Amino acid sequence: MNDRKTLIFCDFDGTVAKKDIGYNFFYHFSEGKNMELIPHWKAGQLTSRDCLLQEAAMVRAGPEEIYNFLDLFEIDPGFPGFVELCRKNDIEPIILSDGFDFYINHVLRKYHLAHLPLYCNIGRLENKSIKVEFPYENHTCPRCGNCKGERMAEIRSRMEVPYRTVFIGDGLSDICAIEETDLLFAKKDLERYCLENNIPYNKYRDFDDVARQLLADGHLKE
Ligand SMILES: [Mg+2]
Ligand SMILES: [Zn+2]
Repeated sequence: MNDRKTLIFCDFDGTVAKKDIGYNFFYHFSEGKNMELIPHWKAGQLTSRDCLLQEAAMVRAGPEEIYNFLDLFEIDPGFPGFVELCRKNDIEPIILSDGFDFYINHVLRKYHLAHLPLYCNIGRLENKSIKVEFPYENHTCPRCGNCKGERMAEIRSRMEVPYRTVFIGDGLSDICAIEETDLLFAKKDLERYCLENNIPYNKYRDFDDVARQLLADGHLKE
């Protein structure tokens, strides 16, 4: 058994949520026009904030239409059990997202998981449009809207004892989390990034895999 306490951080889109809801949402409500932006964001020519502001400006839909669309999305079926396993170990997984509160909270509420701590951008649904706010200040990162690495460093610095950090993610918005992470779980774009940059990571498909490995390594107890 390991002696250090553990903080567990999870990306939302494509990790807690089975699909990338933010991407699908903006694709749907911009009628595909957001596709012009994504390659520029992936190539690092467009910051997340500029990308999100431009995507949000393409949306002309009211809350009812938006929430009906969001009802189509599901979370990883293993996630509620993973949260329960963490609770038994006195750990509350923290969700870090460079997406928006309105869809993350809507989906988490459906699964009675809206109590989990969440750090993300804010999108207010107003008059058939989305008003975007970035509540967190990124001190060093020019790339992210809400920098996961900076949030992890802040959360860690508030703790009185040293914590081990676990991060579970799937995409390029997770890159800044890597240097704050002791034990990384990566799939899809994040896994490719790790392979290209020789970054050690654990392979996983879903939260059942994550739970199995954290139990096997002694970071969690049954
Ligand atoms: Mg993701
Ligand atoms: Zn960042």
